[in-house]
Amino acid sequence: MRRILWFRRDLRVEDNPLLSQEGNVLPIFIFDTDILEKLSANDRRVSFIFNALIRLKENLKIRGLDLALFYGKPTEVFQWFLAQESHYDICASGDYDPYARERDREVSHILPFTYLHDTYIFKPDEVLKNDGSPYLVFTPYYNRAKAVFRPEHMAESMAVPQSLIPFDYKDIHRIKGDTHTKVPLSLTSIGFFEQSLSPHQLLLPEDKLKQFASKLGTYPHDRDFMALNATSRLSTDLRFGTISIRAVIRWLVEQKKLGVDTEPFFRQLIFREFYAMLLAQFPRLVDQNFRYPFRGVDNNDYFEAFCTACTGVPIVDAGIRELLGTGEMHNRVRMICASFFTKNLLLPWQWGERFFAEHLMDYDAASNILSWQWSAGTGVDPQPYFRIFNPYTQSAKFDKEGLYIKKYLPDSGCEYPKPIVDHKQSSKRALEYFKNTFST
Ligand SMILES: Cc1cc2nc3c(=O)[nH]c(=O)nc-3n(C[C@H](O)[C@H](O)[C@H](O)COP(=O)(O)OP(=O)(O)OC[C@H]3O[C@@H](n4cnc5c(N)ncnc54)[C@H](O)[C@@H]3O)c2cc1C
Repeated sequence: MRRILWFRRDLRVEDNPLLSQEGNVLPIFIFDTDILEKLSANDRRVSFIFNALIRLKENLKIRGLDLALFYGKPTEVFQWFLAQESHYDICASGDYDPYARERDREVSHILPFTYLHDTYIFKPDEVLKNDGSPYLVFTPYYNRAKAVFRPEHMAESMAVPQSLIPFDYKDIHRIKGDTHTKVPLSLTSIGFFEQSLSPHQLLLPEDKLKQFASKLGTYPHDRDFMALNATSRLSTDLRFGTISIRAVIRWLVEQKKLGVDTEPFFRQLIFREFYAMLLAQFPRLVDQNFRYPFRGVDNNDYFEAFCTACTGVPIVDAGIRELLGTGEMHNRVRMICASFFTKNLLLPWQWGERFFAEHLMDYDAASNILSWQWSAGTGVDPQPYFRIFNPYTQSAKFDKEGLYIKKYLPDSGCEYPKPIVDHKQSSKRALEYFKNTFST
């Protein structure tokens, strides 16, 4: 059996089910042009992925394996494999977002395709109601997830001996149509410039976890305070699988044995599961509302002000500066920004979702889309659409000393613009809009 091990959202050797498949293997990663062509040449994530691939390649070599890199459309890459003399099949870990599922469906028509489960604790159809329907509310889903959870859900995938299929592992293989060329292994070969990542972004996920260990006890209280650096900051690693979710759970179990209250952190990890399950069950949520027909009101000036951190609302502008400058944004600030966007500015949530998608290091379709729908009040949660965050009371509560604002918005003194909307008036406008949408 000649087996292509297709790495996608699992860029690591530790606890990776792909390495527990016996046989002759050809490990690959594809720089998917369908995705890359939409990105700027300065995209930070491509640098993050490139670093992770170099590390993965080195770690595979230690095990007598290697990683072949491809650049092209996955379907064309596998058509190229099909045209080779040898027969291959593909093994990859399941990716449940709608783009990935469609891509995998097309690929499975070209070569035999075996799915493994890796990215989440649960499969999308594992935590369901008794009648087999999906949960739409988080807390019952969470309770069920805890009831369903077994030690196997965090069991480590053990590597088995595998034989490496001889191949050119040195260059990047470019496939366009049925043309195959090779380019040197570098970011510039695929049209991207190396971005400087922050020291924290360059840390190994295991080291991030070690740093977070001392904060886990205070996480339940401190996690909302944006200046405190009190969260794990593991989302990008979980997104690209540079750490295994099972390894995080095993670590959490160890922490629990030490007497730490691990439940609040576990709960956040289950939010990630919940959102992945929802998008897998309802792929239309990618751009359609689940509930309520709110569309929002197009306004390019408001959108421009939001995206350039010129709204005149300090906590919102500081958040956008954090996002543009680092590719990260604290969860509480994401919530404040998304509420301001969809309620005070009354803009379509899809616009905000796409803007975040362009810039977030940890961009994940399920978490981003469902969080934006939650903020807009259009998602599955029956969160009342009339709940509008007040950005001023939010910052007074969670950034009392203004440390976060000062960090990202040091110029918020006299030169700073006036708010583009008044909170009271814009909230009133939003409520009227929601009421009218219902009555029409
Ligand atoms: C509008 C909006 C957009 C978002 N977009 C994304 C996104 O594209 N990708 C993404 O990973 N998260 C997204 N989130 C969720 C959350 O903001 C981030 O997961 C979190 O800020 C990452 O920081 P952390 O790793 O320090 O989180 P921690 O607080 O340390 O949480 C641990 C892990 O749990 C998961 N998690 C935590 N909170 C949530 C949540 N509310 N929803 C889903 N998973 C969660 C993440 O994987 C996170 O790494 C979004 C939230 C909002 C409000």
